[in-house]
Amino acid sequence: MLTEFHIGIDDTDSRLAGCTTYTAALLFQELISRGFKPLDFPWLVRLNPNIPWKTRGNGALSLHFSLEDGRLEEVEKIAVATVEHTTDLNQRETDPAVVFLKGLIPNSLREFSARALHDILSVREASQIAMDAGAEAHLLKGSRGLVGALASVGADFDHDHTFEIIAYRTPENIGTTRRVNHDSVRQMDAIFRRLTFNNIDPETGRVLICPHGPDPVLLGVRGEDPASVTNAFNQLEINEPIESIIIFKTNQGTNAHLSCHRRIEALRPYQSTVITGRVSGAPRIVRGGHVIFKTGDETGAVDCAAYRATGSVRETALQLAPGDSVTVSGGIRLQPLGELTLNVEKLELTRVVDMVRLENPSCSNCGIKCESMGKGQGFRCRKCKARLPRASRVEKIEHRKIALGVYIPPPRAHRHLTKPSSRDGIRRPISFEIDRANIDRTLESLASISTAS
Ligand SMILES: [Zn+2]
Repeated sequence: MLTEFHIGIDDTDSRLAGCTTYTAALLFQELISRGFKPLDFPWLVRLNPNIPWKTRGNGALSLHFSLEDGRLEEVEKIAVATVEHTTDLNQRETDPAVVFLKGLIPNSLREFSARALHDILSVREASQIAMDAGAEAHLLKGSRGLVGALASVGADFDHDHTFEIIAYRTPENIGTTRRVNHDSVRQMDAIFRRLTFNNIDPETGRVLICPHGPDPVLLGVRGEDPASVTNAFNQLEINEPIESIIIFKTNQGTNAHLSCHRRIEALRPYQSTVITGRVSGAPRIVRGGHVIFKTGDETGAVDCAAYRATGSVRETALQLAPGDSVTVSGGIRLQPLGELTLNVEKLELTRVVDMVRLENPSCSNCGIKCESMGKGQGFRCRKCKARLPRASRVEKIEHRKIALGVYIPPPRAHRHLTKPSSRDGIRRPISFEIDRANIDRTLESLASISTAS
């Protein structure tokens, strides 16, 4: 009897070495090499990025296989061994967890996963959901990793998803400069701009596909479908050996974390959220060059912070005026005195108010602009000395320097989940949904890349 079998992995990250995607890649390849049949590409699921105690990327991974009941134990043993093998348990911030779920994914788990994108979930709740779903958890140290491991299994990629091809470095090169020809990245970007994203930061020319630091990832190319990321990868000139290559299906670049609208009174620290309201005070610049503006709805008001690095978001925030209608998305931070701020990741300006300026009147005889006779006084024509009362000031509608629309930070300041503007209007090709032949073809092409390099 064949059954669906799902494996979730979280938090094998540590600051010095290791990378959860690497653990999942190894496990996927190991299971493939033993003849197990995947139901889909391995999933790289990014969860709420505004939780401060998680690693920056807050990623979890899940693998989905179809296998015979009699071989479940074998797969579980390989999975636990792979996680143990790739994790340095002495790292303080590492709390790896592996979750196994046999059969269909229940709705309670899907709902849990949806909330893990924008809310704070407790280990206690995760344990309850796991128990109800009949999922089995292996905690290698603490229990914090349970939330991510479980959430990755129930992720929903139906509305939108992307792919990332990741190449890993051989151990002796980890920690050294990545030898990827940057000109070849620019050429690749020129060819595959509509099918891949965030290769290059357009304003600075900075190459974004290579991470920094001592992790095993050489590079990752993100795009719309497995064939495009593979073709784009083949355009790159790489001058160091590659240990392995994998393609993940992922929610990166989809704004999946900015899906929950909340009223301002319901905001809590570390949520990712969307609020809609009106600007209720003039924007101000604070130390560091960040711009703060207050937004209010019928339930309250909250300070919204557009950081210097957010580029056009900050520029737009600076031009806001009281009464403007906005939809603001981002993460909720707790300030030292207990107040909340919303760190802006996306700003939509839906309506601007007219800004009225009072101008001195013109003289009815000469047509020239009159001068004020002093504070609270009337006006006088410089030429014919005619006088006009204070009330004769004219209202002039000021030209607003901002356009309605959606503003997001430049690619260099994107989080993994940020939907780049280049993906606007893209509709997912439904034919890529769980297509066995497509997975097999991609795995074959990956194998040929690996042996060629
Ligand atoms: Zn005059």
